[in-house]
Amino acid sequence: MAHLDTRAKLAILADAAKYDASCASSGTAKRNSVGGKGLGSTEGSGICHSYAPDGRCISLLKILLTNSCIFDCHYCINRRSSNVRRAKFTVDEVVRLTLSFYKRNYIEGLFLSSGIIGSSNYTMEAMVRVARTLRLDHDFRGYIHLKSIPDADPALLDQAALYADRLSINVELPTVEGLGKLAPEKDAVRIRTAMSGLKAGIAENKEARAKYRSAPKFAPAGQSTQMIVGADAADDSAVVASASSLYGKFGLRRVYYSAFSPIPDASAVLPLVQPPLMREHRLYQADWLMRFYGFGVAEVQGATDDGMLPLDIDPKTAWALKHREQFPMDVNLAPREHLLRVPGLGVKAVNAVLRARRQRRLSLADIGRLTRGIEKLRPFLIASDWRPVALAERDDLRPRLVKAERSQLELFG
Ligand code: SF4
Repeated sequence: MAHLDTRAKLAILADAAKYDASCASSGTAKRNSVGGKGLGSTEGSGICHSYAPDGRCISLLKILLTNSCIFDCHYCINRRSSNVRRAKFTVDEVVRLTLSFYKRNYIEGLFLSSGIIGSSNYTMEAMVRVARTLRLDHDFRGYIHLKSIPDADPALLDQAALYADRLSINVELPTVEGLGKLAPEKDAVRIRTAMSGLKAGIAENKEARAKYRSAPKFAPAGQSTQMIVGADAADDSAVVASASSLYGKFGLRRVYYSAFSPIPDASAVLPLVQPPLMREHRLYQADWLMRFYGFGVAEVQGATDDGMLPLDIDPKTAWALKHREQFPMDVNLAPREHLLRVPGLGVKAVNAVLRARRQRRLSLADIGRLTRGIEKLRPFLIASDWRPVALAERDDLRPRLVKAERSQLELFG
């Protein structure tokens, strides 16, 4: 590895980290430096952003410790056989950079990932040292997200959890077969064992903190994972099934979906065409349906056509179109769990409807004031002054809804 100064390493190692989209800093305990003690805060201001090649805006909390790797995962630009310039930070360099960026208000914390260099334990140990030095030597109170190396010693993952807000372990591909094909040196069992260990640690810590407030925190923002979509043959049905099983088994806070983006010097095993970014967006919407709207995985799968979520309409609308017998719903009578199924009614709007209807019967215009627009809602709702007698039956409902969704998007475009 050529000798590089910190700036040159930063250029290489921040660039190499941009393919990882799972860096949202949500869900952690609040920390700040009120009272003049400590450094930093987990509340978001001064976030620096970087842009992935496809134009997505990604918070720049993130660098790699090194982009050298002993593994050869086909989808990864840092794989052993990739012809990229390599660099490696020292622990002190990462600590210094984090502190100086933080003090300049460029970032709200650190997202640290790494290629595997030497061994999994060696790499994980260095990552733990970064987090420990920041927390213990510098009283750093910003957000720390460490991307764990799954086959590192579980004791190292436990140590990481003492200093990091969030740990994540990537499952990488939606299916074990996909992982075997595209990341042959990774082991699905080891990945899941590591997740399981973290889940147990987080649960034990919750109990300990309920008894003793002074018990040290253990990954207070939980664990997350990322899966790459479109690099293998797994369809959306398989992706949502995998996500649902991960949420259920490992208590993950988030599953991130990352549309496979073509990398320079790509492996011949990968598809030549990038999946549409809209596919990633629809998967996030489907994920929300499962986490916040009470949809079961089979119901989300039922919204697909031949296993794929439609790209032109959101999954909830797709589901509603396939279950027209359940609509229209009376907005003044339907229970919360039914209202959550109405296309265009989000959790916030449903809560507002429930509050408002205690006072009076709601008209269509009332609903319009609580939502972003009523065009999408009309065929699915009964209000005090509205009953979609003909509209709900129309054969051309889908194109009308697609149009409504497009015009709504343009508002925010
Ligand atoms: S182990 Fe991680 S860094 Fe190494 S090649 Fe695989 S995905 Fe890339």
